[in-house]
Amino acid sequence: MDKVIVITGGGRGIGAATALLAAQQGFKVCINYQADEQAAHQVLEQVRALGVQAITVRADVSIEDEVIGLFQRVDSELGRVTALVNNAGTVGHKSRLDEMSEFRIQKIMKTNVMGPILCAKHAVLRMSPRHGGQGGSIVNVSSVAARLGSPGEYVDYAASKGALDTFTIGLSKEVAGEGIRVNAVRPGYIYTDFHALSGDADRVSKLESAIPMGRGGRPDEVAEAILWLLSDKASYTTGSFIDLGGGR
Ligand code: NAP
Repeated sequence: MDKVIVITGGGRGIGAATALLAAQQGFKVCINYQADEQAAHQVLEQVRALGVQAITVRADVSIEDEVIGLFQRVDSELGRVTALVNNAGTVGHKSRLDEMSEFRIQKIMKTNVMGPILCAKHAVLRMSPRHGGQGGSIVNVSSVAARLGSPGEYVDYAASKGALDTFTIGLSKEVAGEGIRVNAVRPGYIYTDFHALSGDADRVSKLESAIPMGRGGRPDEVAEAILWLLSDKASYTTGSFIDLGGGR
């Protein structure tokens, strides 16, 4: 059976590193993005240079119609999905709860909670034997913020990742008997563009002294854990979490 992977937010950061590693491991790759077409196309070229079939698909993961279109493109151009990485995520500027707008909180929840749930739904519709599938594997990209809470920074984001962790546990049990494994990674401070969204692009280097290992993480270090969880080497692992926080 061909290995077909969908990586949401695959054009940059952790998603891009995951796309490259997946290509090296022989997956056909779907790189989803929301806005940065140029970045997604750069990753597409790198992935195709490794000799694998790949596509980019623009879709906002928080809107079901767009998620349906994303999976239909994968069906017709790559084949039935066998692996999903729910990586797309966002965060707001560092602030206290009493300074946050309803719009901001809704955007965080829609992207970080609704998005992965909707994508998982449409993956399960293709992976589950109840729908003619042959199983598969899902990895959700959560955060150490889910257990630290991020007070004074972005409690809304931390809460969204807490919800994603609970979803990981519940769905893993729901589909465990159908050959579908569901796990999560929880990165700490990783060097990506993500921190510009919180208002400080240099955040990771400034906070390195607070990390027990004394450094921020690299996207490829997170990608390694994601690909392990997706692989047959993790065949008895479901409902599990790998923290990549340098000791945080
Ligand atoms: P990033 O470099 O900012 O990349 C985020 C990706 O998500 C981008 O490709 C973006 O698309 C995509 N995206 C955002 N909203 C989307 C939507 N509604 N629909 C589809 N795609 C959407 O961030 P990153 O650091 O790689 O983050 C990836 C994941 O890791 C996130 O879930 C984040 O919460 C988690 N994480 C990151 C860190 C860290 O320190 N970096 C730590 C813990 C957890 P465009 O390229 O089109 O904008």
